[in-house]
Parts: sequence; structure tokens; C-alpha cells
Amino acid sequence: MVGQPYMLDPMVEAMPRDQLQDLQDQRLRRAVRRCYDRVEMYREKFDEAGITPDDIKSTADLPKLPLTTKDDLRARFPLRGLLAVPRGQVIRYHMTTGTTGKPTVSPLTRDDVFRAETALARCGAAIGIGSGDVVQMMFGYGLFAGSVLCQPAFEKILGAAVIPAGAALPSATQLDIMHDFRPDVVAATPSFLLHVIEVAKDKGIELNRLGVKGVLTGAEPSSEETRLKIAVAFGAVIYGDIYGMCELGPHFCVECPEHRGLHFNEEAFIPEIIDPDTGESLGPGEKGMLVITCLLKEAMPILRYQTKDITYLDDSPCVCGRTHTRIQRIMGRTDDMVKVKGVQIFPSQVEAVIRNVAEVKDSEFQMLVDRSRAAVDSMTVKVEAQEKTPELKQKLQDEFQRAFLGAHLKVELVDLGSLPRFSHKAQRLVDTRQL
Ligand SMILES: [Zn+2]
Repeated sequence: MVGQPYMLDPMVEAMPRDQLQDLQDQRLRRAVRRCYDRVEMYREKFDEAGITPDDIKSTADLPKLPLTTKDDLRARFPLRGLLAVPRGQVIRYHMTTGTTGKPTVSPLTRDDVFRAETALARCGAAIGIGSGDVVQMMFGYGLFAGSVLCQPAFEKILGAAVIPAGAALPSATQLDIMHDFRPDVVAATPSFLLHVIEVAKDKGIELNRLGVKGVLTGAEPSSEETRLKIAVAFGAVIYGDIYGMCELGPHFCVECPEHRGLHFNEEAFIPEIIDPDTGESLGPGEKGMLVITCLLKEAMPILRYQTKDITYLDDSPCVCGRTHTRIQRIMGRTDDMVKVKGVQIFPSQVEAVIRNVAEVKDSEFQMLVDRSRAAVDSMTVKVEAQEKTPELKQKLQDEFQRAFLGAHLKVELVDLGSLPRFSHKAQRLVDTRQL
């Protein structure tokens, strides 16, 4: 029942660390051997780096392996020299929608699909989803892996009922469904939920009276302030930032009821943090780029994948009983990071500042910057506001100054409703060269 969290696979999720370590070492050796024997891209990479599968005996040897990038996969689009199984064993192809270039493809075998569904079922169990619960699924269906995997996970593994609303229906229709079917859980991207909240307000609907007990978010990073706002609006507990990546197979962690980061499914994936500039390995607590090795992926195994996501590892024990290492909430992507006068700024941090200023706490915003330059001197932030007063502009500028000491952020107040809304992933960082 929602609100009564449980562990779906305690034998795995709470496995003692020494056993887990042995399991990882054993699976890593097998995965590396398999990549070398079956995947052309890895054979080339290993040969180029002058290493053989025998050089990798345990997770401690991981830094010896070359990194894999999105460009490596794109260069072989769709799957040239990437498959480790005969095509007939692939039962599903997911792919990114290719908004930032050629799409990346994720072929899955029957077991790959089952593992991905299990990973999502663990997320559902951590909220307490089970038989008798109703979930309104508002993640997109289609090429995107989210809903297509989440739905069978919740239905078949957890026994809940799912309403496949998807992300294409307008917010007003989503609200009608919520009103008529009283889902226990709604699942969507934070940006879509913010839009639903806005529409509910316009229509005078009290969201917190619809009986939603849990909100499941994912597919894009969000600030603590946004999460709080969503939780308060629905009068529900928010779980989330279900985190995954299409090409990796695709979901790999679970947020436990303690809300202190995301436990990595370490029986199937190994997380590492590296310095994005030097590639050097970083320890727990040190912020850097997340790199992921798939231990069990059959169709398209991947070693040391550069996610471009910025976070840090936390290996301190968690009272929920899960023994798997946690990653902290994704702070942003290296692609989304802007350096203004040397100060690193992510859209999620700008959002956090805006959500704390009463007059604009519900406002949409946009960050305008010239991305052709590695470092810029200033950035303009457009913020929607009811009253476009010089006082409010100054107040926001002062708040940004406090948050990003040394960087100069210019504020431009714009009309309510004039900036783009997002039903899938928010794109609030805009390259001025494209305007
Ligand atoms: Zn935990």
C-alpha cells in the first residue's frame, strides 16, 4: 500500500557488502571478457589501449579500462559493432529522440527487459505500491523507455493498476482522470507536474483533496524546492528522480524512504565518479562526473560510460537496510553547466533561487547564454512575473548575487505565460546563438 514502503528483493538490495563486492568482481570479469570477445567497438578500444580482459581482475582495476562516450555510440549508429548477441535475441529497441544530435539506441533482450522492469518495480516498492493501488502514468510513451517499462513493472511485478495516461494528454484531461479515478500515485516529470499544478490553480481545483498519496518523478533533475512545491501542492510524499539512461539499459537506482540519495543497483551496475576534466577517479563525497559500467546487460553491454551527469557517491550505511551505495541527486549535466566568470551554474540552482522568492516562486524561467564560449562574463535570466517592477528585478538580482558570488546574472522580467512550457524534459538553458 502506498505509504508503506517495502523492499522488493531484500536478498539483493540488502546483501552484505563483502558478498556484493565478490559478486561485482566476478560479474565484471565476465562482462569485460564478453565485451572483448563479442563487441567490435570494445575489441578495438582494448587493442588501442594495449590491455586485455586478463588485466581486469576486480573493480579496483576499472580505471584501466577506456571510457565509453555517447559519441562512440553515435559513430556506430544504429548498432554497427555494438551488439553482443545475434539480432534475433533482441526483443525491444528503445532510443533517445535525438534532440541533441543522432539518437542513441538501446536494444534489449528478454532478460534485459526483465531486469529493467525489476529495477523500476524496486522504485515502486520503495513507495509501497502494491495490489489495490492505482497509478496514473504521465511519463511519455513511445521511444522513451520510462512508461513502457514502468507500466508492466507496476502491473505484473507489483500487482497495481496503471492508467496509461502518457504525457501527450493536456493537463486539464490529466486532472479530469485524477478527479474521476482517484489514483494513489501520479508519475511524471517535475516540469509536467508543475504545469498540472498551474492548470489546477487556474481551474480552482484543490489538488491536495484528490487523494494522491505518492508522487513519483523522474527523467530530469529537479531542485529540492521544486520537489517541495510538488509535494505540498498534491499533499503527498514525493519520491523520485527515478534515474536512468536509455543506452544503459536503462534504470539503475532506487530512492529509499529515507530520501537521502539514490541506492545504485550495484549487483548490475558499478558507479564511479571521475573528474570531468582530468578523468581521475574521485572518492565518496567528491563531486564529479558519474561513470557507469553495466555488469549484466546482454544485448549491448557497456563499460565505463560517461554519463555527463554531475553528482557524488555516499557509501555511509543507510537506515533503510539497503546496502547499495547511494548517489546524491543529480546536480545537472556537464552539458547544462555554464561557467559565468568562473562560477559553475546549473539550471537547477537558478531554479532553487527563483522558488525562494515569493513573487515569482511559481514562475517559469529561461537562462540565455552564448554557449560558443567556454566561460562568459554574464548571463541573462528571463523570469515570468505578474508585476514587472524594478524592485522585484533588483531583489532577484541580489538573490542571484548571493547564490553565485562573483558571477553576474542579469534579470529580465517577462509576461506570465510567455516562456515555453515543458511536458517532457525542461530545456531552460538556451543558447543565444540559436535565437
Ligand atoms: Zn536507504
